[in-house]
Amino acid sequence: MTTNKVMKIHEFEDAVYYRASCDCGASHCDLTIELERDKEVDMIFMNMYKDVHWCSYWQADGFFKETWVKIKAALRILFNGHIKVEESFIFKGDDHIDAFLNAIKEGRDYLKNNPE
Ligand SMILES: [Zn+2]
Repeated sequence: MTTNKVMKIHEFEDAVYYRASCDCGASHCDLTIELERDKEVDMIFMNMYKDVHWCSYWQADGFFKETWVKIKAALRILFNGHIKVEESFIFKGDDHIDAFLNAIKEGRDYLKNNPE
């Protein structure tokens, strides 16, 4: 089912996928939502996939300083195994939020009603 800026893109026996468009309109900002059911423990996992960017330009001025900030971030990932990032997803209007929530509910119902 396609709704306002949110659409189902795949469904399998134990998983369903939706794509939500960010209101900024950039395709790299889209959010892919995976709802996966583990029937053994009766849990639904929600995984979200989105491109995130290291905002080195916020902290540095010029190519060399920006590159140094990126190298420090890469070293942090290399030695710590993780890094904290943030990325916005923009909703515009109640319809957009409702469509997002309806996709989650629709996916839940699909997974619960899918007999194997
Ligand atoms: Zn966006």
